[in-house]
This record gives sequence, C-alpha cells and structure tokens, in this order.
Amino acid sequence: MAKRDYYEVLGVSKSATADEMKKAYRKLSKQYHPDINKADDAADKFKEISEAYEVLSDPQKKAAYDQYGHASTDPNFGGGGFGGGFGGFEGGGFGGFEDIFGSFFGGGGRSSNPNAPRQGSDLQYTLDLSFEEAVFGTEQTIKFNREDKCGTCDGSGAKPGTHPETCSKCHGQGVVQVERQTPLGRMMTQQPCDQCGGKGQRINTPCDDCAGLGRIKKKHSVKVNVPAGVEDGQQMRLAGQGEAGINGGPYGDLYVVFRVEESDIFDRDGSEIYYDLPLSFVQATLGDEIEVPTIHGKIKLKVPAGTQTGTTFRLKGKGASKLRGTGNGDQQVTVRIVTPKNLSDAQRDALRKFAEAGGDQVTEEEGFFDKVKDAFRPK
Ligand SMILES: [Zn+2]
Ligand SMILES: [Zn+2]
Repeated sequence: MAKRDYYEVLGVSKSATADEMKKAYRKLSKQYHPDINKADDAADKFKEISEAYEVLSDPQKKAAYDQYGHASTDPNFGGGGFGGGFGGFEGGGFGGFEDIFGSFFGGGGRSSNPNAPRQGSDLQYTLDLSFEEAVFGTEQTIKFNREDKCGTCDGSGAKPGTHPETCSKCHGQGVVQVERQTPLGRMMTQQPCDQCGGKGQRINTPCDDCAGLGRIKKKHSVKVNVPAGVEDGQQMRLAGQGEAGINGGPYGDLYVVFRVEESDIFDRDGSEIYYDLPLSFVQATLGDEIEVPTIHGKIKLKVPAGTQTGTTFRLKGKGASKLRGTGNGDQQVTVRIVTPKNLSDAQRDALRKFAEAGGDQVTEEEGFFDKVKDAFRPK
C-alpha cells in the first residue's frame, strides 16, 4: 500500500504550526491507541500517526520531507533500522549486528534512523488456572511490572516546557563517520555518535520523573477474560498490553500463557473428558445403576449385566466447552473391574460355591483373547 502523506495522516495543512500539529497528534494518538481502540487496524493507524508526527515535529526532518517526500525518512533507504525487529533488546549489547555490517561494508548500506519510533517489547505472563477454571472460563485481573510511557513528559524524556535539542556532533543523524584501519586498507565506517548515544538528540533538561528515558517502570493490571475450554500451554495475545514504545512507537503485546492444573478425578483432551469407573465384578456381572461424577455434576448411569472391564460409555454433551465452535464434548466413562482383596471367610465361601456352580467358566462367546490367555496359562 502506498504511504499516506504525513500532513494528511495528521489532518493538518502544510502551514500548520508546531502547536497545531502537536494538538492533532495528541488527539489522534489517543483515539487510536491500541490500549483504548480495539479495532483491528488501530495499531497500524497508531504507528502511522506516530511516524508522521515524529517527522513533522522535527524541523530538520520536516524540511527534508517537504523537499523529498517519503524517501527522506524511509528507514530502509540505506538498509535495516536500528532495532527494527530487535526492538525488544533495546540496543545495548545487541548493537552487534550494526557493528558487524558497519565494519564490513563501510557503513554504506546500513544507515539507520535512531529516532524512528520503535514498538515496545512484548511480555509474557504465565496464568495458573484450576481444572474447573480452564473448563468453564474465568475472568482474572493480573498485575505485573512493565515499562510504561512517562505521563509527566508524555514519553519525550524532556522536562515539560523544554524540548530535546538536535545533537551538535552528529547533526541529528545518531551516527558519525570514522576512518578505520582494516586488513583491506583504510575505510570509512559509521559508528553510533558518542555524544548523544546514537539518539541524534540531546535532552538538556531531563524530565524529573523518568530521568529523560521517557518510560518508567510501573505496576500494570489487566483484566483477562479466559474463555471456556482453554488448555494447558495455550496462549492469548492482548494487543498493546506489553511495554511502552520508544520514540513514540506503539506498545508491545502481552502474551498470557495458561498453565492448567490437573484433576484428581478426570482426564481431559480438548473438549473430551475421560473418567475411569471402578466396578466390583458383582456389579459388572449383574448390572447396576451407578452415580457417576461429571464436570457438570453427578448423573446416573445404567451399567448392563455382563459388562466387561474396558467397556466405554459415552455421556453426550457432558464434556468441556469447545473452544472453537459451539456446544460441549462428551464424557467417556471406562469401566475398570476391581478384583476384591482381603475377603472375609463368608465371602470366600460364597465364591467357592459360585465356582462349584460353574460360575467361573469362561464361555465360548467370551472371545478369542480369553482363549489365547488360557492357552498360555501354566497348567
Ligand atoms: Zn518523563
Ligand atoms: Zn549525536
């Protein structure tokens, strides 16, 4: 898509004063801030607005833009941006990429714009959920520390009433040319400007609250609506809830990762719930009506006479909500026949009588596998 004219983005005329542009920028950035505006294109709009203001509020850049248009500001004009894509690392020790390219290519193709707005870092938060909360959904407020935009200076880093000044050494470029001796001979290379730390600007009167950084660590709370049916390890992205951007860039995103506790009673796979039903061999042989727990409460299940261990009954709609789509999964109840231990004398006698009456004979229709087992049983 073609880039829109910066004046058009801010909705101001070419003759607008700095104050008029600032007012327009403030109004629009509030309107499209991803924290407030949940529309899909809000973050992109916000980026566009920040970028337009970032250029038009700087007299030097404004002049270049008026003359050359977007080509004057395109960070790809001479290669990648200073942290473009590495925004999360905040320059610092990660300048390595710049340095490497800088020394090999003489800096020619890798100029960067240190004043370009950069998105803040994404954050990750692990949210512990009980088995029930994951199944039925929940609303929780989470609290964590993040870099927030400083409210006192509105993120500029300059004490209210003052403005950052263009660095006199690099003239706002953030980089300086240095002659270096390399194995290939003498070469001109680019280095981040040491006077302004590569920012291209100097804040002579820093904001008292953020010490000129424009950002400040603050406790932040977010309400998380956990939908019914989430599973362990799944994550949810909350746009604009990460850290504040740099140079007026948008906030990063927050990724909430769910850690779901296991149940003592049920196993779960998506919307299907599994339950093992212990039955005595008498119940299984004669049939019974049994109360079975489900996540929706107890229900009665009729077990027919002659039920084998491993038989599964399906309770329709008694599973968890489907995260995508509507309705519930099922609960599968699998019969586990429990062989009695520690019999009383009376029970033992009764079982002997049962055997004498021929009750322990495996009959023909009880299947091939029973016969195979018999064949291998030591005589
Ligand atoms: Zn501040
Ligand atoms: Zn400088």
